[in-house]
Amino acid sequence: MRRSRNVKIVATLGPASQNKDVIGALHQAGADIFRLNMSHGSHEEIRLKYKIVREIESEINSPIAVLADLQGPKLRVGEFKNGHEYLEEGTSFQFDLDPTAGDSTRVCMPHPEIFAALKTGVRLLVNDGKIRLKVVVCDELYATCEVLTGGVISNRKGVNVPDVVLPLAALSNKDRMDLEFACGLGVDWLALSFVQRAEDVHEARELAKGRAAILSKIEKPAAVERFDDILAASDGIMVARGDLGVELPVHAVPPIQKRLVRKCRGAAKPVIVATQMLESMIDSPVPTRAEVSDVATAIYEGTDAIMLSAESASGAHPVEAVKTMDSVATEVEIDPNYQQIIKASQPSKGDTIAHGIVASAREIAETTEVKAICCFTQSGTTALLTARERPSVPIMALTPEHRTARRLVLSWGCNCKITKSLDRFKLAVVNAANAAREGGFALESDQIVVTAGVPFNVSGTTNILRVAPCDERLIYATDPE
Ligand code: PGA
Ligand code: MN
Repeated sequence: MRRSRNVKIVATLGPASQNKDVIGALHQAGADIFRLNMSHGSHEEIRLKYKIVREIESEINSPIAVLADLQGPKLRVGEFKNGHEYLEEGTSFQFDLDPTAGDSTRVCMPHPEIFAALKTGVRLLVNDGKIRLKVVVCDELYATCEVLTGGVISNRKGVNVPDVVLPLAALSNKDRMDLEFACGLGVDWLALSFVQRAEDVHEARELAKGRAAILSKIEKPAAVERFDDILAASDGIMVARGDLGVELPVHAVPPIQKRLVRKCRGAAKPVIVATQMLESMIDSPVPTRAEVSDVATAIYEGTDAIMLSAESASGAHPVEAVKTMDSVATEVEIDPNYQQIIKASQPSKGDTIAHGIVASAREIAETTEVKAICCFTQSGTTALLTARERPSVPIMALTPEHRTARRLVLSWGCNCKITKSLDRFKLAVVNAANAAREGGFALESDQIVVTAGVPFNVSGTTNILRVAPCDERLIYATDPE
């Protein structure tokens, strides 16, 4: 389905968006990728949502991407006798391994490996950083803390420990089961939460066995520090601003977002800017001006995708939230300033033949009247490299691989279409011209750029650039076999 923008929209599905009418309306309004959050809902509920997305996909006959977000090693406290307690600033509070219910002096934190990693002076942040504590004394069984900022602590609240690299397995047992389940369903992307090192990504990749692409959520200071290695190991990135803004001061997040978005573009890997983008729309039918500006900023920075979490999963106005993102994106992308900014932040030239071809395709698009860049891609690499160029005309990613088409949906500007497997270049050109006309990108009288690799059906062979007419008769008359 043709959109009026290049940036993609990810909508998280949840109780507010679980039936076909709403999911269909979300897609219609502009959601390109659906996120299934493995932290919530049973496998059966998730399977149902997945099935609905695939039904819609086959009805519209255009690929839709599904991203399964694994919970990751999120630390939580146990339960309290009274359900909750108020922690007073300046008092002492203990975390330990005693499973009995907590009170105003202590609570269980059922993660023995954490106690071994804690040190005096390390901060513990509870309930999205609303309560802050500092370790005063600790050993392998407990940690006595001073309450730096008080507040209400209740059953199973999350705990962040930003100051140390935790000796946690990248994937809990639940994550492993969820990963296998999600891969079995056929999701296109797996998001890994609380990635700390490149090895975490390798571990997930081994388990996924090629069934899904791997996206690393950057939400720990350790991941920011080791970002280059994590990016190299991943297929995509999420700037997970929720936890990142807890683990680091909130004011540290915007420059990190800018840097990560730029690096991802340089590496030709898709990046999602996520969390609280339209937070007030959970309750309100209209966003705040600051939220609109935040969405716009991410797009001006050149992100591949923007994401809705609770806004679409459990809010009162899921469809309006998608519509808001869609209109902001459309408005930003027609701004001449946007095009200038995107051009000015062009990453450095690559040194492969494929890089040369996609850069040429962009130059031709910028300086002539061609209407689209149609790239035949097997693994998706050529389409990713084309998206990295951020050309001024639409990109059509044509591939015989369903898996490739769906994964590419996340990438900036990629209009994905499944084609027949081809073995002759002339037919490829005819196919590209038809796809461009049918997709509404070009008329018969227009010209397009076609890139491909010969021999066909081999990854990494991009070696042809042809400026072709969209009139099938002309192609047959002029093109060599
Ligand atoms: P979450 O991840 O919604 O799964 O916590 C995103 C974030 O932390 O921003
Ligand atoms: Mn998170």
